[in-house]
Amino acid sequence: MAVTGTRRAEPASPRTANLAAVLRALRGGPLSRTQLAARCGIAKSAVPGLLTDLAGRGLVRAAGVLPGNGRPSRLVELHGEGAYALALSIEADRLSAVATDLAGRVLAERAETVDVAALGLQRGMDELAHLAREVLPGAPVGVAISVPGLVDSAAAVLRLASALRWRDAEIAGLMAARLNVPAEAVAVDNDANLGALAESLDGAEDLFYLSGGTTVGGGLVSAGTILRGARGFAGEVGHIAVDPVGERCACGRTGCLETKANLAAVLRAAAPPGDPLHDPALGV
Ligand SMILES: [Zn+2]
Repeated sequence: MAVTGTRRAEPASPRTANLAAVLRALRGGPLSRTQLAARCGIAKSAVPGLLTDLAGRGLVRAAGVLPGNGRPSRLVELHGEGAYALALSIEADRLSAVATDLAGRVLAERAETVDVAALGLQRGMDELAHLAREVLPGAPVGVAISVPGLVDSAAAVLRLASALRWRDAEIAGLMAARLNVPAEAVAVDNDANLGALAESLDGAEDLFYLSGGTTVGGGLVSAGTILRGARGFAGEVGHIAVDPVGERCACGRTGCLETKANLAAVLRAAAPPGDPLHDPALGV
């Protein structure tokens, strides 16, 4: 899974960590055993055993030989179809589900436009699980859920999503029960954090990702890792107070940036009430 550090788990055993390191290294393409040892910082003698384990789980396979002079080096690659991951997204007006294989290839995707706040938490999660089942070819090894709000990532709880009117929602547990997967297999994170992480996969190790729409948020990546801050809300610029006598924000405070710069505020500033720009059918 692309999402990391979303739960305080027991440290992985050295073998599990090595298996994960091999899989991560192979995401870049086929490698020889010598290359894997060097990339993963593990002894070359340990690589065959790890590959046998992964091949037995259907996660890697042989991929020809490395061209060149001398003794040929056999290559190994990810067996993409060996496992599935599920990415789910909850937005104020849209639910979506994407299934990928282990190599990150999109297998199927579905989305629907819906007023999620009107559905409420339980029915919203029912609807999202329904989309998930439509795209999944089998049991997923991991599920990541993007939510537009403040997430206590250690507890995998959505503390507040003002756009959804959800508070202290145990998203991971609710989805795990619906998909019949362990709660530990479900990661929940803020949409801007996941946007920042996705951008960093293209090679930018340090970046700030600013998201603007129904809500305003931000995600910080430093050295390739999401920076969460002491309380887990680092980068959440949407709730910085910018106007001490401004509007009341859905978070309960006054004059947050979100009240000035979210989609509704921009539309209000751009056109008077009654202007066709406000027509929801336009999908602005
Ligand atoms: Zn606020």
